[in-house]
Amino acid sequence: MNKTLFPKYADGRLSTGRLTIDLQALVDNYHRLQGLLGNTIMAPAVKSNAYGIGIEPVVNALTLEGCENFFVFNLEEAIRVKKLNRDAQIFVLNGLFESALPSYDEAGLIPILSSMHDIKLWANYWKVRSTRRPCALHVGTGANRLGITMSELETLVNDKSMFQSITPIMIMSHMACADDPKHPMNKVQLERYQEIIKHFPKADKSLANSASIFLGKDYHFDLARPGIALYGGNADCNAASTMKPVVKLEGRILQIRTIKKGETVGYGASFEAPKEMALAFIGVGYGDGYPRATSGSGVAMRKQEQTSGYGFLWGEKLPFIGRLSMDMLAIDVSNLPQDKLQAAYEKDALWVELLGENIPLDDVAKTSGTISYEILTQLGTRYTRYYRKSEKQQLKS
Ligand SMILES: *Cc1c(COP(=O)(O)O)cnc(C)c1O
Repeated sequence: MNKTLFPKYADGRLSTGRLTIDLQALVDNYHRLQGLLGNTIMAPAVKSNAYGIGIEPVVNALTLEGCENFFVFNLEEAIRVKKLNRDAQIFVLNGLFESALPSYDEAGLIPILSSMHDIKLWANYWKVRSTRRPCALHVGTGANRLGITMSELETLVNDKSMFQSITPIMIMSHMACADDPKHPMNKVQLERYQEIIKHFPKADKSLANSASIFLGKDYHFDLARPGIALYGGNADCNAASTMKPVVKLEGRILQIRTIKKGETVGYGASFEAPKEMALAFIGVGYGDGYPRATSGSGVAMRKQEQTSGYGFLWGEKLPFIGRLSMDMLAIDVSNLPQDKLQAAYEKDALWVELLGENIPLDDVAKTSGTISYEILTQLGTRYTRYYRKSEKQQLKS
């Protein structure tokens, strides 16, 4: 193999899909949320590779803004954060396994104890070492996922030897319906949480994910745990997003072709051209994590009121045509000036926005019957990624 070829491929000019990640937009979202939170400390959720955006660039950018607390799901993520920010307080959501105990110890991570089993493991580990380390406690208030139940909490509180065997520095619970401000569950969970925390006067309190930040001061407590809003997703399902988009996804036009009336396009021949049309084929598909359910036609399970997905070029929204496949999708470019399009295509790489300022993340999610979280965390590994540094990162380098 010719080694001189390799750098050319590595620089991304020859890729068919690219992501531009705007770390300043992330930082702006961070400060926007901090503004809403006042004195409440922000402890961003950077699990699942910071929602697909990249745990390293995200943690680095937020650390420069003074962020010192992070939530991750598992130990591997926690260690990645620790390597980037030695002083950070890192909370690990997945509960505790016996074999993981030494790693928590060595790396100084904070497990979030989420069952009576977790509590016993943690207490016994330190008892035989005649010392203590901080932990956090997750109490369920209605979401019924991880977390000790309210009745287990009663047992714990009444069993002095057990209660005193751990020193939780943070008591958390998680909201089930905060993205729907009118949902009655919100108030119920808040009231339960307010009862629970009476047992822990010294610990920090944490209830709010992104959506709960918008529910108001009552939900903020000491530590908030925003995820999706930082990354540009909408936290309130009833209102348009007011967060800045962080991710821009573009696909390269591979080919432009005219199809005749009556011809079909793609697998399943699910689209039949009603007239002569100009189509552009773009090198992004479900193999890149772009949802197949955004297809123009021929896929099940789309809500009736939703149309297909769209690409964006030169001020126009261009609908997807036929089924999106593993490596590519087709858009209708009949409304664009054909000469200009052909010239631009022949001159240089021509990129179509598939997600970003003009094709909002939440629209892609709605079109494909899912949520912004899934769209971001599924962003594929085939894209070339460009990170636009935050202002503080630019000053530093
Ligand atoms: C993922 C997660 C968050 C962040 O939620 P967003 O809705 O993305 O803000 C907060 N808390 C817990 C326990 C989580 O698992």
